[in-house]
Amino acid sequence: MRRIGNRLLRLAPAVRCERCGGVLFRAFPVLSGGRLRLYGAERAVVRVAFSSRRTLVFRHEAADACEREIELTVADLGAP
Ligand SMILES: [Zn+2]
Repeated sequence: MRRIGNRLLRLAPAVRCERCGGVLFRAFPVLSGGRLRLYGAERAVVRVAFSSRRTLVFRHEAADACEREIELTVADLGAP
């Protein structure tokens, strides 16, 4: 049963980091009992917040996992 679930998740929409665009996880959203469940996001380590009344924003939890955080060049670091 787990294999079938993993195969189906390949078809699920990708949730991307709002900052760097990297894929955080793939999940099927299901509304159930006043909750939005994201089947497939169980192992994702992400930060999520509302950016408006109807929009959730997902980001990498760890700064070193976010590609935007590690794209600094020598010029960005203020080299002499
Ligand atoms: Zn990121």
